[in-house]
Amino acid sequence: MKIAVPSEVKNNEFRVAITPAGVHELVSHGHDVLIETGAGLGSSIPDASYQAAGATILPDAASTWAAADVLLKVKEPVASEYGYFRPDLVLFTYLHLAAEPELTAALLASGVTAIAYETVQLPSRALPLLAPMSEVAGRLAPIVGANVMLKPNGGPGLLVPGVPGTHPAKITVLGGGVAGTAAMQVALGLGAEVTVLDTNLFRLRELDALHFGRVKTIASNSFEIDKAVVDSDMVIGSVLIPGAKAPKLVSNELVSRMRPGSVLVDIAVDQGGCFADSHPTTHADPTFTVHQSLFYCVANMPGAVPHTSTYALTNATLPYVRALANRGWKDALRADAALALGLNTFGGVVTNSGVAAANGIDN
Ligand code: NAD
Repeated sequence: MKIAVPSEVKNNEFRVAITPAGVHELVSHGHDVLIETGAGLGSSIPDASYQAAGATILPDAASTWAAADVLLKVKEPVASEYGYFRPDLVLFTYLHLAAEPELTAALLASGVTAIAYETVQLPSRALPLLAPMSEVAGRLAPIVGANVMLKPNGGPGLLVPGVPGTHPAKITVLGGGVAGTAAMQVALGLGAEVTVLDTNLFRLRELDALHFGRVKTIASNSFEIDKAVVDSDMVIGSVLIPGAKAPKLVSNELVSRMRPGSVLVDIAVDQGGCFADSHPTTHADPTFTVHQSLFYCVANMPGAVPHTSTYALTNATLPYVRALANRGWKDALRADAALALGLNTFGGVVTNSGVAAANGIDN
C-alpha cells in the first residue's frame, strides 16, 4: 500500500500527519511511505529524518497526492487541493464537514473515500483522535495564562506559584474533562491553588480520588461558578456539551466583579466559548480586555506547539493508519466499529448522519 503525506497548506498550520516513528512502522509492514519535501519542517522534522526511517521524499504536492492509495493529512483540504481528489483515493484527516459544505460537495463529486479523525468514536463515546489536542490545549492553558499575568504582557504582575511568604494564584477550571483535567494538572504543577467545577459528579469523584487534598472539586451550578470565579486570578473554560454550542457560564457582569488583571482562558472558544464575551483570537494577537480582565481565546491553541501536537496526534492516529494500510480500508472498517464511525463520504454519498443533516442531504 502507498501511504502519502503532503505538506499542510492551511494558513498557520505547522503540524504534519506522520512522524519518523510512523514511517518506520509502516515500512516495516511492507508499505511505501511517500512524503512531500519539507512537510515536517513546521514540526522540526527534516526530510532526512523521514528518509532515515525509510520514506521516499517527493518534490511537490501534486506528485504526493497522485502517489497515494491512502493520503494522510492533519487539516481538511482547502480549495486549491480539491483538484487532487479522485474516486480511488482514501483520505484520512480532520474534516469537520458539518461546517464545510464546499469541501463536502467536492468530496462527493470526486467520489473520494473520506475518513474523518473527529468522528472516530469508541464504544465509551470517547473521541480518541480529538483527545490528544484537548490534552495539548489543556496543558497549555495555565502556561499561556501565567504568561498573560506578567506585567510586560499587560497582566497584573502575579507569579502563579508565588514565593515563600506570598499567596500563589488561584486558578479555577470550568469542566474537568480531557482538556480541563490536563489544565488542572499543569496548574497544580505550577503551584497554583486549584478548583475544578463539573456537572458530572462521577468525574469529580475521579479527580478527587487522584488529587485528594490538592484540588477542590465543586459541583458546577451558577451559584458555585459565581463564587469561584470572583475569587480567582485565572479562570480556564474547558466545558463541552457534545454536538452543542458551549454553555455561557461566565457573564459580562460576573467579569466586572473579578479582580483587576485577572485572566480568563477560554479553551472552549472553538465551540462558541463558555464566557459571554469570548470571541476567537489568533496566536498573533491572542488577548483582549473585558472590564479589567484579560481574555485569551485562541481557537487553535495546539498550533503554538506543533512539534508536541504532531507527536500527540500521530501517536493516536498511527494504529488506525496501520489498520487501513494492512487490511485495506473496507476490512479495516469492518473490523473496528470505532474506525467505521470515521467514514464520512464514499462513492459520492455522505455516510455520516450528522454531516448529512448539517449539509441538508437526505440519503
Ligand atoms: P470533554 O467532553 O472531555 O470535557 C468536557 C467537560 O465539561 C465534561 O466533563 C462535562 O461534564 C463538563 N461540563 C459540561 N457542562 C458543564 C457545566 N455547565 N459546568 C461544568 N462542567 C461542564 O471535552 P474536552 O475534550 O475536554 O474539550 C473541551 C473543549 O475544549 C471543547 O470545546 C473542545 O472543542 C475544546 N478544545 C479547544 C482547543 C483549542 O485550541 N481552543 C483544542 C482542543 C479542544
